[in-house]
Amino acid sequence: MTRIIRFTPNPATPPTAPDGYPDVFCGVLDGEVARSRDGRAWPLAGIHLLPPCSPSKIVCVGRNYIEHVKELGNEVPPEPLIFLKPRSALLGHEGAIEYPLLSSNVHHEGELGVIIAKRARRVDAASAMEYVLGYTCVNDVTARDLQKRDGQWTRGKGFDTFCPVGPWIVPKKEVDFSRLRIRTWVDGELRQDAPVSDMIFSVETILAFISQCMTLEPGDLIATGTPPGVGPLQIGCEVAVEIEGIGVLRNRVVRANAVE
Ligand code: MG
Repeated sequence: MTRIIRFTPNPATPPTAPDGYPDVFCGVLDGEVARSRDGRAWPLAGIHLLPPCSPSKIVCVGRNYIEHVKELGNEVPPEPLIFLKPRSALLGHEGAIEYPLLSSNVHHEGELGVIIAKRARRVDAASAMEYVLGYTCVNDVTARDLQKRDGQWTRGKGFDTFCPVGPWIVPKKEVDFSRLRIRTWVDGELRQDAPVSDMIFSVETILAFISQCMTLEPGDLIATGTPPGVGPLQIGCEVAVEIEGIGVLRNRVVRANAVE
């Protein structure tokens, strides 16, 4: 399995660092060795994985699994319901999710992430897969109280560190989509467990829908919605989003500092 990664040997490099930033490398993970495109090699133990893509935008789909729509008492949408997360929310594998001072109800949402390979503007569903590079794991971390209070979702979904993604991208050719299953674990307790095939709107439909509105650029990230079982995270817990055939995205939750 090919594992496309972005990484840094420098622990001070932020997870939001774009391509071209000092100490940011793109490449593949080959066993326990990270190989950058310029032919250099690092032992995995000596690097930090960054988000595997550097998106210009993160487009998310809400209410895309029927059982999740029901658990929050919502209606099934007649067409994909999309919203944006800011790229300032990006976080890599093993990075710390900061529990905001402003919220007391932060939830996990394990999701399949789709990464765009080439510019897509007004594409149709039949050709949409030509624009896909591959798949990864995403945690659409959500301050449920602020999402409800605000009505629109920018703040509830947009805190720094609220978009863990990774650990890597698996190319679409190497993924048997029909067998993908999302599982979310909190401190080893299984919270979400559903096949990706339960999605209401397919990846093709979602990409066609989004691209009628906004041009998708290479590296853009689409989070395709969460299955049922969303629930609270606590400070100190570890949350893992596992998609069989792709990988396990693991993050711990820490208290945000009141003063920095
Ligand atoms: Mg979500």
